[in-house]
Amino acid sequence: MKKIVRISRVLCQILLVGALLIAYGCQKEVNRDKPIGKVSYNYFDTVSYVYDYTNDTEKEFEQFSNGVFDVLCYYHQLFDIYNDYSGINNLKTINDNAGIKPVEVDKDLIDFLVYCKQMYTLTSGKMNIMLGSVLRLWHNCRSEAAIDPANSKIPAENELLEANKHTSIDNLIIDEENRTVYISDKDSSIDVGAVGKGYATEKAAQYLIENEKYGYVLNIGGNIRTIGTKPNGDSWVTGIKNPNDPDGDFPIKISISNTSCVTSGVYERYYTVNGIRYHHIIDSDTLFPAEYFASLTILTSDSGLADSLSTALFCCDEQTGREILSKIDGVEAIWIYSDGKISYTENVEKLTVD
Ligand code: ADP
Ligand code: MG
Repeated sequence: MKKIVRISRVLCQILLVGALLIAYGCQKEVNRDKPIGKVSYNYFDTVSYVYDYTNDTEKEFEQFSNGVFDVLCYYHQLFDIYNDYSGINNLKTINDNAGIKPVEVDKDLIDFLVYCKQMYTLTSGKMNIMLGSVLRLWHNCRSEAAIDPANSKIPAENELLEANKHTSIDNLIIDEENRTVYISDKDSSIDVGAVGKGYATEKAAQYLIENEKYGYVLNIGGNIRTIGTKPNGDSWVTGIKNPNDPDGDFPIKISISNTSCVTSGVYERYYTVNGIRYHHIIDSDTLFPAEYFASLTILTSDSGLADSLSTALFCCDEQTGREILSKIDGVEAIWIYSDGKISYTENVEKLTVD
């Protein structure tokens, strides 16, 4: 039930973005005036769309959209913390063996976890995949509230503090040479909700680029990645939602090509306790939902970086966020505050359209 509600919420969001992409997708010089699209509900507990704006035949589109879904499926299984898959050691296997033994994994999972550690350092720990023990407490309360809303509650403070003793990134021990991963504390666990979907989206984008398939748009649960431009050289336009009125007009529309657009926001996943909303992005300093902004959008080519930074910058004040961005080239950010105030980095203005 929870999954259906979440999927339908994401579907509405995607349809909005999709409608916008289509609306702005009228092309001058190619035969197709609307993209062909394909949808899957199978990956990352969300809805995934592939759009093709080129003159590919149906058969070609079938081949490359299936190729995209194969990539998503592969990473979905590797990053799953709830399910086992035969013949695969995934993140669940690593979590299950916390404090017990190192687990031998595929090089792709090693590369991803090394990347996550780099993102931890880059974001000064604001995006921490070892927050699993804390996130689980919030996740459990949210799940229980979905079943029994009248008795919804937030995690107890002592439970949060206890869980927080097990969130050190140093508990994740990666042996690149022997291709093993070990969680040294039995009460520690990995949760890659902040970065996994974006990382997999980028792998799917790279698959298209390797096959010279430009003119495609991926929308993986609202994580947008455009590959190249439209065939006539135009960019696409995507709307940034108003986090205080997600079904209302877009406060900003951005022209994008060869880039990703990823938003973390208070409206994406939340539950209510005594009339107060608690969303799903947790500030590691307070162990409570981050309260700095209503949404935070990142524009940069790499979807994994965009996903990591969207969560991280959502969890710190604007000044700290700008300091993090000063260490990286080619990243733009849009901060939307709960009072509606919008702030952005220097180049965003050039990308906005009326
Ligand atoms: P979404 O998954 O809705 O696109 P995010 O990319 O911001 O949004 O990821 C939110 C998810 O990341 C949460 O559901 C949780 O699993 C995880 N998470 C929440 N807070 C943090 C954090 N500070 N660091 C790392 N992971 C987090
Ligand atoms: Mg993220």
